[in-house]
Amino acid sequence: MIYDTIQGMNCPSCNKPMRKVRWEITNNFKSGKDFKEFDKFTYECKDDDIWVTTEIPLAEKPANKPSK
Ligand SMILES: [Zn+2]
Repeated sequence: MIYDTIQGMNCPSCNKPMRKVRWEITNNFKSGKDFKEFDKFTYECKDDDIWVTTEIPLAEKPANKPSK
């Protein structure tokens, strides 16, 4: 799973692993071929009260594959 690589978010202050507190799908509010969706993750470090969000583009839809 690709998510395994992004779950290891460390705190920029204390460098401890951060807790993933939220996941949602967002988009860039465009239409047509410019439309993109993102996996948005929110991480928290309770010790430092630091929040970090990351947005990763979703993979392109299988409909884009060439047909035989
Ligand atoms: Zn921290």
